[in-house]
Amino acid sequence: MKRSSKSLFLFLLFFLISIPCILASCFEGRVSTFIIDAGHGGKDPGAQGFGINEKDINLEIAKEIGSRLEKSGRNVLLTRYDDYFLSLAERCDIANSSTVYSSGYPLFVSIHVNASEDESASGFEVYIKDESKLVNMISRSMNQLLAIKYSSYKPSELNRFKDDLSMAVAESIIQNVKKNLPETRIRGVKRGDLYVLNSTWMPSVLIELGFISNRKENGYLKDERYKDLMVDAIVKALESF
Ligand SMILES: [Zn+2]
Repeated sequence: MKRSSKSLFLFLLFFLISIPCILASCFEGRVSTFIIDAGHGGKDPGAQGFGINEKDINLEIAKEIGSRLEKSGRNVLLTRYDDYFLSLAERCDIANSSTVYSSGYPLFVSIHVNASEDESASGFEVYIKDESKLVNMISRSMNQLLAIKYSSYKPSELNRFKDDLSMAVAESIIQNVKKNLPETRIRGVKRGDLYVLNSTWMPSVLIELGFISNRKENGYLKDERYKDLMVDAIVKALESF
């Protein structure tokens, strides 16, 4: 082989080997563990309205989502299983130090209820991390093997993988809620500067189920049929990942 064709051959070989490294996300396969986070708890009731507390709705919905995912054979970890206080940092520590399986990736799903001084405010929305926020995705509490794997990526690449997958999960949740609950006002997917989204290394979404301060939606949050359809929609979306 001539010298010029040999270098061309080596260049092509290097290029072909590099393609999967360029395209492959650090989050491959399916979700290995769903980390379901019921917002607030204990001394922190969250939003309140018309006789109910956000912390209780969050826990009820989070537990139900968890048990349905478990019934379909998926791994689930709840950040809290009862009515007690957890700081935002503690919630992220639970997620960031959760067991890492050899295949798949964990997904963090935080459950909340909205409130506004404006009683007419209403709707269902899902938050994902703001693109401009660069999260340090190699945390000290992370599994060492994963830290080694992730250190081969640029921080901006890791963030893009997290953002893209979080967006896909959020959009799927919105589509399923639209299908199951056509009467619900959909506010869509939003990007937010939120602690639990910025401090977890895995794809993460924060769901706002509705407005506790809005009389009609407060009624929905007390309605067993409505909550069942809401959980069903969220589980259908999560199961597809
Ligand atoms: Zn909340």
